[in-house]
Amino acid sequence: MDTKYIFVTGGVVSSLGKGIISASIGKLLQARGYKVTIQKFDPYINIDPGTLNPYEHGECYVTADGMETDLDLGHYERFTDIQTTRNNSITTGRIYKTVIDRERHGDYLGKTIQVVPHITDEIKHRMLREGLEEGLDFVITEVGGTIGDIESAPFMEAIRQLRWQLGRDAVCVHLTYVPYLKAADELKTKPTQHSVKELQSMGIQPDILVLRTERHLDDSLRMKVASFCNVDLECVVQSEDMPSIYEVPVSMQRQGLDAAIMRKIGIPVGETPAMKSWHDFLHLQQEAKAEVHIGLVGKYDLQDAYKSIRESLHLAAIYNGRKARLHFVNSEDITPDNVAEKLEGLSGVIICPGFGQRGIEGKITAIQHTRTHGIPTFGICLGMQMMVIEFARHVLGHSDAHSMEMNPQTTHPVIDLMEEQKHITGMGGTMRLGAYPCHLRDDSKAYAIYGKPDITERHRHRYEFNNLYLNEFEAHGMQCVGTNPDNNLVEMVEIPDHRWFIGTQFHPEYTSTVLNPHPLFMDFIKAMTV
Ligand code: GLN
Repeated sequence: MDTKYIFVTGGVVSSLGKGIISASIGKLLQARGYKVTIQKFDPYINIDPGTLNPYEHGECYVTADGMETDLDLGHYERFTDIQTTRNNSITTGRIYKTVIDRERHGDYLGKTIQVVPHITDEIKHRMLREGLEEGLDFVITEVGGTIGDIESAPFMEAIRQLRWQLGRDAVCVHLTYVPYLKAADELKTKPTQHSVKELQSMGIQPDILVLRTERHLDDSLRMKVASFCNVDLECVVQSEDMPSIYEVPVSMQRQGLDAAIMRKIGIPVGETPAMKSWHDFLHLQQEAKAEVHIGLVGKYDLQDAYKSIRESLHLAAIYNGRKARLHFVNSEDITPDNVAEKLEGLSGVIICPGFGQRGIEGKITAIQHTRTHGIPTFGICLGMQMMVIEFARHVLGHSDAHSMEMNPQTTHPVIDLMEEQKHITGMGGTMRLGAYPCHLRDDSKAYAIYGKPDITERHRHRYEFNNLYLNEFEAHGMQCVGTNPDNNLVEMVEIPDHRWFIGTQFHPEYTSTVLNPHPLFMDFIKAMTV
């Protein structure tokens, strides 16, 4: 079968969940036995979101091959278990950089470089590339932003051209919003009609409309949308608010979204796949009623900042028969006087990743409390570094121990810059990024949890455990149980005498998926529930 292309755009407002819909389409086609990939095109000028503040953009998700990407790639991987790469995340900045570098190289000598055709050709090339390179059945392309944004116009033009070029091999799915007006007690389809008109004015007729709604849309409303927007009734699907995002694929399947896509393309629909393992998971989710309260000690008080960690905890809790209740604890507000109160009632605590000075001392105070009170503690990246600093200060007695990131004057730099990082001046894409091997000591809790000695995990950091201190830490009870076999960098620490006290320099949350929850998160929850 030739590769088929599905384009997912959004209208009316942002934050409708295009990423979830794209991931759900991917899941449904996968369930039908197709080889699928999902890619995201973002209209901003940054080369990648690596340098963006989480308040701007939420979590930065890291692929195995070391690209800092949009958090929607996390949804793609969690839903489908596909391993995305740097090719799955493209920004306007990357497109322009490629074209401008080519111009400087002299590849267009004599020509004026323009948005159309040079930028749009590069977009088209990247939109098609996955399919051409890997023999995929379906390439799903989600375009960030909202229809009508100035920034996304070149992407829309590229989609218009590709539809023309690919004919039936391309399908456009447009996601819009149907607001409910309380005063009128009515659901309103006008914004959807306008959004589709806007798309049409760019030369794109959507094949399928997914209507986000907080209330159920009856058939007459769907019919109205279908007739005003030139779309078949069976191609108007609704995406109602769900108690869990993981119910979305099932709801889409029930309404025949995958079947509608296949009919548009002209491939036989056949039987609806059972998706047994997914339904088994949903069943566990429904059954998991007893709550487990977990603290996220960090500095970003917004849902998306620690997205993958949150999802990893929810998933692991469900597999342990529990419902995770996550409580954000702002580390900037934690002091030795209030720490007990701030962490009261929590069965376990995550010390979140991060950068820079803000909220650091609060994290250290929280760790001192959880370490000395036997509260399960999981430090991730900066969280592990803070565990190391807390131990150095309060157990080893190095009262000014710190990371060179926060205090370059410290006399005990227990967290230091790697040699190869020392000459780097640029900030974008220059950290230790992507998957690296790690060897686990066979007498460790980590080894018992993973059930194997050699693992691979994804990284995103500049600073490292300073091996000059390794013997001192181990002699006093903090064990460096995971190391990179190539350069001996410490990747995991644990305190064997503690109920559960593990720090990882890597980010296990990036590889925890719905059907394959990560063993560390699983064991962390288990420790709280036994
Ligand atoms: N700021 C730390 C470093 O660069 C940790 C980064 C993180 O938590 N992702 O090493």
